[in-house]
Amino acid sequence: MSDFGNKAISGQIKSYYASVAGIAPDRIEEREFGFGSFASRIAVRHTAFGGEKELRSYLVDAAPLHVDYSAAYYKDPTAAMDKKGWLGSELRFDIDAGDIVKLPCRIEHGKEWACEKCLEAAKGEVIKLIENFLVPDFGFSAREMEINFSGNRGYHVHIRKESVLSLGKSAREEISNYIFGQEPDYDSFFYTVRIDPRHEKQMGPRPSDGGWRGKVANAFLNAAHSKEDLTSLGIDKTVANKIFANIASVRKQIEGGNWDFYSIPNRKSVFENLLSRQVINQGNRIDKGVTNDPSHLMRLPNSIHGGTGLIAKKVPSLAALELFDPMKGAVAFNTGELAVRVDSRYRLVMNGKEFGPYKNEELELPTYAAAYLYLKGLADIISSK
Ligand SMILES: [Zn+2]
Repeated sequence: MSDFGNKAISGQIKSYYASVAGIAPDRIEEREFGFGSFASRIAVRHTAFGGEKELRSYLVDAAPLHVDYSAAYYKDPTAAMDKKGWLGSELRFDIDAGDIVKLPCRIEHGKEWACEKCLEAAKGEVIKLIENFLVPDFGFSAREMEINFSGNRGYHVHIRKESVLSLGKSAREEISNYIFGQEPDYDSFFYTVRIDPRHEKQMGPRPSDGGWRGKVANAFLNAAHSKEDLTSLGIDKTVANKIFANIASVRKQIEGGNWDFYSIPNRKSVFENLLSRQVINQGNRIDKGVTNDPSHLMRLPNSIHGGTGLIAKKVPSLAALELFDPMKGAVAFNTGELAVRVDSRYRLVMNGKEFGPYKNEELELPTYAAAYLYLKGLADIISSK
């Protein structure tokens, strides 16, 4: 980091904010804003704006490295925390590739870097969050959610439905515990009933059951459409073939809660594999604070992430998310080139082009790539073209 480099980045940030549209959140005048600088992640907070014009002129003027806004709506967002007058809070979720456990590519590139695979994995987890939990278990429709790329290596989901606004801390904790909390155990799903003195029947969840039970039953039935999927759950090949060949009758039995169709000796580990496909992979560090804390500050959608120079870009729909590539769609600094000295062992892919690795090399790079490497601490900007 250097004064010269910081100035070059600030200039880029200014021109981004001068041209971006739709940067204001809903009910902007009731939101608390915070800003980060090169020196401090949150340097200023308890700030408020009367409208988009005012916010934008601040952003163009100050070119903050990070822009955050409160989950909460307040009567007076500029007052001290206990005097703000809480009016309600949106519900927020934060999914970060850095929290995904056993991500194979991370062993290669370390936890400081996010590659295409990391970003795809984070996207997979956010789709799971929406499709496995928020829609079926909480009854939110995909249209009621705002999804945005975090600007670095994950995604944020915001829900502003009237019914969530008044939820307090403990209700928010219940939601995050249900979604990210302790995994359900085998014995609460499967049990045996004695049908006569010599025979027991294996019973389990039905696809029509609510919550986790329905998820497990449905995940099994989905897997039963492919022999490979069944064996990947740990089911022996012969049994997998039988299930696959008799899918209609297996389905019927499971619909009745009867899991006694074939002998699966390692049923418990199959169940655990089924479950691990449903659970959102966010490790132990899950950022529950984001969901649980009604006064949390989070990066403003469509603002610049000062750790990458990328846009914390809004993704218009769940369908658009499936196709979204942040290293193309969230690139901000699209004009010109910057001269840099780079020392980076990583291969950076942006806008479909590859950059690096570089061994302490001086070269000119497109502004977006130079900014990304500079903000990651892997390059110094030496003079602009
Ligand atoms: Zn990776």
